[in-house]
Amino acid sequence: MKKWICTNCNYRFETENPKDCPYCGMETLIKEKNASELLEEVGRLLEN
Ligand SMILES: [Zn+2]
Repeated sequence: MKKWICTNCNYRFETENPKDCPYCGMETLIKEKNASELLEEVGRLLEN
């Protein structure tokens, strides 16, 4: 399962391939990053 966050209403949910937010119906979905992805991102930021 992937975790998603709706940037419109901040609703979080888990589903495989969401089309839109089950709460507000907007398509403003981003994938929630897991811990290792976050660490990678911090590493990239520090390099720049
Ligand atoms: Zn929403």
